[in-house]
Amino acid sequence: MSKLAIFGGAKAVQTDPGNMFTWPIITKEIEEAVLEVLRAGNMSGTDVTKKFEEEYAAWHKMKYALGHSTGTGALHGAMFGLGIGKGDEIICPSITYWASALPIFSLGGTVVFTEIDPETLCIDPNDIEKRITERTKAILVVHYAAMPADMDSIIKIAKKHNIKVIEDCSHAHGALYKGKVVGTIGDVSAFSLMSGKSFPCGEAGIMLTNEQRVYERALAFGHYARHNEIQLEDIKVGSGLPQGGYKYRMHQLSSAVGRVQLKSYPQQMAEIDKAMNYFWGLLEGTPGIRGHRPEKNSKTTKGGWYSPLGLYYPEELEDLSVSRFCEAVIAEGFSANPGCNKPLHLHPIFNTIDVYHQGKPTRIANSAADIRQPLRSLPVSEGIQEKVFSIPWFKHYRPKIIEEHATAFKKVAENYKALLPGDKGNPEDIGSWGLTFRKKD
Ligand SMILES: *Cc1c(COP(=O)(O)O)cnc(C)c1O
Repeated sequence: MSKLAIFGGAKAVQTDPGNMFTWPIITKEIEEAVLEVLRAGNMSGTDVTKKFEEEYAAWHKMKYALGHSTGTGALHGAMFGLGIGKGDEIICPSITYWASALPIFSLGGTVVFTEIDPETLCIDPNDIEKRITERTKAILVVHYAAMPADMDSIIKIAKKHNIKVIEDCSHAHGALYKGKVVGTIGDVSAFSLMSGKSFPCGEAGIMLTNEQRVYERALAFGHYARHNEIQLEDIKVGSGLPQGGYKYRMHQLSSAVGRVQLKSYPQQMAEIDKAMNYFWGLLEGTPGIRGHRPEKNSKTTKGGWYSPLGLYYPEELEDLSVSRFCEAVIAEGFSANPGCNKPLHLHPIFNTIDVYHQGKPTRIANSAADIRQPLRSLPVSEGIQEKVFSIPWFKHYRPKIIEEHATAFKKVAENYKALLPGDKGNPEDIGSWGLTFRKKD
């Protein structure tokens, strides 16, 4: 194959990608829906949101949907909805966005982190049971980078120990796990709907459940203006003011966007899935790299393929670092990033910081034992950043551009020997606290 661009060869990516990566796709219909709400001065109402909730719930065949101002708020509401409180623990993978875990602090609860499976990048079911204590209330599952987690194994463990399952679907709207749409398998689920996600509404989130009590507790928690919807007597007592003092009402400009997205999303998902699978199909058999995608014909899909990643096997490339690999891909014309989320369990917020002045780090302020997890306690999570890289998130099926990008990765992998001499290894701080690190421009 031709000379690598990093050494002066021609770039693999020659065609201007145009709007290939533009997201969200803002149509005339979205603009008009937003303008209608804006002109009516109806931004802080709930009528548009309720319609959006009904439609989002119907898509998932779930009883209750509750719109939130953010995905973080939806997760917070889901945790409160399940009754999580002082001293309670959730089990959560260390590799995720912080909002999967941190909202529990303000409920007086805490988090025990688990390992991930190095190929699905989702919670490793084999690592869950040893983390369960008498304080464990829920397993928080993240369908990471759009990959559905191994829900059958997780539900089995949860049932056995009588604990709940929260699905964080912020990366995986519309993804199927063995034919079932994610967010419908656990006890409650939460989705971020912010602009960078697969299902973008602006800033927003949504919670789904079939449990009246979970729904009404979430209403009580952050939706004081909707307390007239509460029917359970013991929850009704607190009507009028939000439990805990949170206000999580969804902005109706976002609800209006969401209603239009619901119509276009199935088609968008199908096109993205086709484009991304075409890309990985072209790269099949390339040394050192593999797609982070479900097995073919498994009835498991990635939905909108949020922030897609490739799996990197340095041992197949004489230990070429993923950073050096990405450097060469960038020269070929695509800004590949090494790494993914950093392991949460090593951040000071989960180790030393006393957020609420309780005289102890918040992580253990309400715990019977010191559950903190020091360096080397979760080796897979601590090392995964050196074994993944970002790939192009194609929004359209345009074979020529996809082929050029696939060639960029293939060319670099096949010419890895030329890159070995200049390899300075991976930086100490590889990875990021957010998953989307690509620049917007
Ligand atoms: C984005 C994200 C959230 C939080 O959603 P916001 O809408 O940004 O508050 C939660 N969990 C995961 C896994 C996310 O990626």
